[in-house]
Amino acid sequence: MTYHAIAIDGPSGAGKSTVARALAAELQFIYIDTGAMYRAIGVYAAGKGIDTKDWDAVPTVLPEIKLELCFVDGTQHILVNGTDVSGAIRTENASMYASNVSAIPAVRAFLLDFQRSFSKSNHVIMDGRDIGTVVFPDAELKI
Ligand code: C5P
Repeated sequence: MTYHAIAIDGPSGAGKSTVARALAAELQFIYIDTGAMYRAIGVYAAGKGIDTKDWDAVPTVLPEIKLELCFVDGTQHILVNGTDVSGAIRTENASMYASNVSAIPAVRAFLLDFQRSFSKSNHVIMDGRDIGTVVFPDAELKI
């Protein structure tokens, strides 16, 4: 079975996730919210007392982090080491932490395999700044 990937890129506030969700529902693809992953890592690191701007310290916690996604009525939930953090990652601080940790190459590398793994057994739609270029350079459709 061949699985398909659709990549959506664009500046924040452009409506990427709105389009992605609508398209996913229409096509019966799963929409993967990659921003939630950066948020989860940022919140975890901050919870450990780490400065999320510290490029040396943040990568030291990555081996402790087991991320999982599950879907409840089509809505993505994200789990860190078995705990659902879907609510905790939607704060203003979490946005800042996510932005900080997303600048760290080791964090991006950590998430790359995780993001790609979903496309091996699902039709996926993902959005985010590097989805069409780095994560799915061969995506059938890039928007
Ligand atoms: O989309 P959202 O606001 O949840 O993303 C949180 C942060 O994660 C963004 O500000 C961005 O810094 C980062 N991000 C990223 N690459 C992605 C998705 C999100 O760097 N593919």
